[in-house]
Amino acid sequence: MAVTNIRKDDLVEVIAGSESVTKKRGKVLRVIKEKNRAVVEKVNVIKRHMKPSQLSQGGIVEKEATIHLSNIALVCQKCDRGVRVGIKVLDDGTKVRVCKKCGEVIDK
Ligand SMILES: [Zn+2]
Repeated sequence: MAVTNIRKDDLVEVIAGSESVTKKRGKVLRVIKEKNRAVVEKVNVIKRHMKPSQLSQGGIVEKEATIHLSNIALVCQKCDRGVRVGIKVLDDGTKVRVCKKCGEVIDK
């Protein structure tokens, strides 16, 4: 399943949803496998109004909300876009992710 191919620190592009129009890109900060969701840097940012507390002054805090894995795709540097990813087994048995479009190995 393609959705499990996204990992922490991957560069991904938003391919569906409200932010897909701008082809927003960001680094994956966290993957929540059980929910098929991820937190991507600067993507799906929501503003939260925090009440002042002993720890902070309160005010508006910006925070990334999770996004469904089906709404993001791994970016292939060669294609310069979010692509579908396949798995290729190298001669030494290592599994790497490859771009299904151009065949470029994404895991270097
Ligand atoms: Zn490619």
